Amino acid sequence: MTDVTDARDRTDVSATITAGVPTGLLIGGAERAASDGATFDVHDPVDGSVLATVSSGTRADAQAAVDAAADAAADWAATPPRKRSEVLSRAYDLMVERADWFARLITAENGKVFADARGEVLYAAEFLRWYAEEAVRIPGTLQTAPGGANKILVEHRPIGIAILVTPWNFPAAMATRKIGPALAAGCTAVLKPASDTPLTALAIGKLFDEAGLPAGVLNVLPSRSSGAVVEQMVRDPRARKLSFTGSTEVGVTLMQLAAESVVSTSMELGGNAPFVVFDDADLESAVAGAMIAKMRNGGEACTAANRFYVQEGIAPEFSRRLAEAMGALRTGDGLDPEVQLGPMVNERARDDIAALVDGAKADGATVLTGGSTPDGAGWFYPATVLGDVPEHARILQEEIFGPVAPIVTFQTDDDAVRLANGTPYGLVSYVYTQDIGRGLRVSERIESGMVGLNRGLVSDPAAPFGGMKESGIGREGGAEGLLEYMESQYIAVSW
Ligand code: NAP
Ligand code: MG
Repeated sequence: MTDVTDARDRTDVSATITAGVPTGLLIGGAERAASDGATFDVHDPVDGSVLATVSSGTRADAQAAVDAAADAAADWAATPPRKRSEVLSRAYDLMVERADWFARLITAENGKVFADARGEVLYAAEFLRWYAEEAVRIPGTLQTAPGGANKILVEHRPIGIAILVTPWNFPAAMATRKIGPALAAGCTAVLKPASDTPLTALAIGKLFDEAGLPAGVLNVLPSRSSGAVVEQMVRDPRARKLSFTGSTEVGVTLMQLAAESVVSTSMELGGNAPFVVFDDADLESAVAGAMIAKMRNGGEACTAANRFYVQEGIAPEFSRRLAEAMGALRTGDGLDPEVQLGPMVNERARDDIAALVDGAKADGATVLTGGSTPDGAGWFYPATVLGDVPEHARILQEEIFGPVAPIVTFQTDDDAVRLANGTPYGLVSYVYTQDIGRGLRVSERIESGMVGLNRGLVSDPAAPFGGMKESGIGREGGAEGLLEYMESQYIAVSW
């Protein structure tokens, strides 16, 4: 394994990092090529070079993956919860043991810096540990019917074959956040990873094999024809669950598709998180929290602070300090341990960010730091802070998904709530104030599934993660996350 500090020669490093990672489809416990032999390239965002070439699943492969999941379904559902739990525990141990190895792989295909990638791996592994613990605590209830004639017995059963579709921004954590509860519940699954980052998902598939998961329980199907393979699987009457994390646009299409055969959906969609700083906030911790909420993952997070609303008294000093902290970030190859901001995942992502910033500048925003695409190789965009951003600028309406912080000033608590709620999204919000009563009152008025109160990070495997409004339906993590993969069955019993 290469030491990250020596990780300067990309060609050698890339070959070392991807060694041992499957590049075929993982179906029924075996690795195979696509039915038509098709492949696609996975790129390193640092210089655009090809990291690996991966099989691109077809409709026939999608069918085969569902067949494999169906073959394994009855045995897995009948496997004692303790045994399912033990497989998840072993997978957790293996992932933690290999945290550095996984982190390099994530950095290589996604671009995020090594520290963020390592943080993601440990976060991803925690979903396996949490659901190993939940697997043996699947609830049920028994009560006497109000009429007194019978009992009401309610059991939770595995919902059936689960189709899991994940994005590129957290290639490990978005996968385990679905795989963990699906397997704990007793479901078998097919994972369709994002085409920018299939290697991490394939490595996770292999890891589960080593952890002793029976063949066919988890199948991994990379594909460049995402729409076709997902449609093929969701239309299959044996698939009963679709869990999707990605953009609201694709989520809406998939909900329409799932509606045709009444497939249960969980949708973790886009966000547009407001970061509200009141005059009475602790300035230092607000800036530190802003750096985490904005810059974890280089801003490529659905939870990323997207709009900074800062009360007028504290705004000049907050803006100055945030610009200073953002401007000091070192940009470059994420494998270099001194680098704090890596490249964006691909060229289009980078160009979309640049277009939003250019639009904001044209609307009258001032650039406090960063603000233009650098020359040279790789898909880099600098850490950027924009001041005086007009309330209706496009950059405040859309998910930036990059290292850009637009700042807007406000006057009253009512203004803060109105601005925070002024989008169709409602995933997460951040609120900073030293008056905890004020913070809770404002949090309760904000329409978002999660609130970080004096915190720049909310994600926790033990908590229900998910959005209100167009940010999604359902929750992942916590006890709620398990029930997304279960169906209640009520048995009326007389005895
Ligand atoms: P995306 O384009 O919606 O893609 C997500 C996944 O869906 C990928 O695997 C993609 O495959 C697949 N896909 C694309 N088009 C499809 C179609 N027509 N039918 C079926 N599958 C399709 O999103 P992204 O750009 O990868 O990810 C960024 C988005 O994810 C952001 O909006 C972000 O907010 C959201 N996100 C949300 C959460 C959350 O928990 N709420 C967490 C992380 C990210 P290909 O890669 O092959 O296109
Ligand atoms: Mg890539």
